[in-house]
Amino acid sequence: MKIFNTLGRRLEEFKPIKKGFVGLYTCGPTVYNFSHIGNLRTYIFEDVLRRVLEWNGFKVKQVMNITDVEDKIIKKAIEESKTISEITTPYTRIFFSDLEDLNIKKAAVYPRATRHIKDMLRMVKTLAQKGFAYRAKDDSVYFEIDKFPEYGKLAGLDKVALQSGARVESDEYDKEEARDFVLWKAQKPKEPSWPSEFGPGRPGWHIECSAMSTRYLGPTFDIHTGGVDNIFPHHENEIAQSEAATGKPFVNYWVHSEHLMVDGQKMSKSFNNFYTLRDVKERGFEPLAFRYATLMSHYRSKMNFTWEALEASQNALNNLRFEIAKLKMFADKSGSPDAENKFRFAFSEAVNNDLNVPEALGVAWQAVKDDSLSPKQKLRLLLDFDKIFGLGLENVKKPVIPRKIKAVVKERELLRANKQFIQSDALRNKIEALGYKLEDTENGPIVIKKPK
Ligand SMILES: [Zn+2]
Repeated sequence: MKIFNTLGRRLEEFKPIKKGFVGLYTCGPTVYNFSHIGNLRTYIFEDVLRRVLEWNGFKVKQVMNITDVEDKIIKKAIEESKTISEITTPYTRIFFSDLEDLNIKKAAVYPRATRHIKDMLRMVKTLAQKGFAYRAKDDSVYFEIDKFPEYGKLAGLDKVALQSGARVESDEYDKEEARDFVLWKAQKPKEPSWPSEFGPGRPGWHIECSAMSTRYLGPTFDIHTGGVDNIFPHHENEIAQSEAATGKPFVNYWVHSEHLMVDGQKMSKSFNNFYTLRDVKERGFEPLAFRYATLMSHYRSKMNFTWEALEASQNALNNLRFEIAKLKMFADKSGSPDAENKFRFAFSEAVNNDLNVPEALGVAWQAVKDDSLSPKQKLRLLLDFDKIFGLGLENVKKPVIPRKIKAVVKERELLRANKQFIQSDALRNKIEALGYKLEDTENGPIVIKKPK
């Protein structure tokens, strides 16, 4: 299986640290608002990555953090005169329900930042003892990037751009501000705080992920993912903190998904194109249609979301379910194993080539149309492929056709046998008007309820 490693920026053969096992850390949400569809695209990509690893026989331990203390949360809590947990609790619940709606597999652990303050403080203390961190005049503790010569290796930062000695306190900032970043923020009025040997305060965002990932996956683990906007500063800082603290390589493969655009533009509140899963549902689409839409773009390409494209995805999903339902109506019939293997191989090749899911989706649709496959084989292939697509196709039931419809189908067959085609066509129209679709196949006619 090949995957593109942001560290080194090249396609690499994936080799796990421990045979048959993958430690996977995926940056989770900052729970102060609804996840937007760009975040959701990243979570779906991570789910697909995990499924592809499992397809290849790996046992995957996925850890996804919940950031429940951070600048944006605190700002909102102060604005609304609430505690941070009054902000984070409802949005954490909504986050989990979004994951369920999108058929995203559950991580092994969802560690909350506020429950791992001790782990973070332990790491800050180690960094201070090893001389990588210092306490500034504002009483906050900073990581000194000059002490870590490899700083910038993930984002490919020019050393010259680094401003040694200059400090940045906010959790999010641009490449232009590569400076000493905050590990522990001294308490400010109205802000929540925890006691520590550095005085009361709260963790910076970056140390949260370093502490929680190494806590559950060890000092060195296989894969760390996120969106491209996490590369700098978040992931760069995670590497610096973790490697400085443990003295070991932090992560072997960094995998990042590209942005989601809306109508060709960046999503932003000012463009009024900042969509969530609620908007998708309110417009009558299923969350799984959005999942289908994300499968149509490669994770390293920008995805352009439009409502028209979502509608096309909803239709494609309906059609796929329709095909499955149809296949379930046929009696078992064996086909050529070679043909089936050919499709399975093409599918594996696609997903193992840096998760080329758009191509894998193409293989699935070719299988639907291929005459060398028996219905049973097609069904088996589609359900297998769905282990990676995650479209819930296993839930498609064998259709139950009302007796009234069955009788009309039978009557039509008699007319056809007598070559009374005008009359038989009239019956076909009748069936269609009743909301069913009729198809004549080599195994006889099949009838199925039309997708909504
Ligand atoms: Zn993170």
